[in-house]
Amino acid sequence: MAKSILAGGYTVPTKPIPEKILLRMREIAEAFQGVNDCWEWPHSRNVRSGYGQLACRIDGKQIVFTAHRVSFAVFNGSIQPGKLVCHTCDNRGCFNPKHLYQGTLSDNTRDMYERGGVDRKATAARGNRHGSKTKPERTQRGTVHHASKLNDDIVREIRASGSSCSALAKLYGVSDATINSVQRGVTWTHVK
Ligand SMILES: [Zn+2]
Repeated sequence: MAKSILAGGYTVPTKPIPEKILLRMREIAEAFQGVNDCWEWPHSRNVRSGYGQLACRIDGKQIVFTAHRVSFAVFNGSIQPGKLVCHTCDNRGCFNPKHLYQGTLSDNTRDMYERGGVDRKATAARGNRHGSKTKPERTQRGTVHHASKLNDDIVREIRASGSSCSALAKLYGVSDATINSVQRGVTWTHVK
């Protein structure tokens, strides 16, 4: 089986999708044709991620494919190596190909930030911070975004962290001065 590419702690699947899985997707999607809203996956979902899934046996081994990736491959065309299939609707159970696009890990995390749909628990495991660390220019934009970079949880993390001011500034995409003020309790005074 093809190896996976690791990007920012998240594994990008590279396994080829077998014909029978593509066919099953066509059958399932039949009932959703003409629907512009989210297509809620009517079968099993991954308990942890919430993504719809399809499984089949290949050489006696059970292989699981995520429904939105398969849907993308069937209706939008092949997925480039190392690319993620991302949702424009933030609904992980959705497999409407019109709500899907190919992107990189940082596209995915940036979009989640911009739509405000960040699940901190889920994104932490997927190297969310990696995106803001490696592409700080993407998050350094305007006061609206600036204001939304910190929240109570992040402020507690910053105060509890032993990392340097500049490392934390890079990590959260804010200035050194912002981190300094947070640490000294000058700002975010309501957070204990
Ligand atoms: Zn959707």
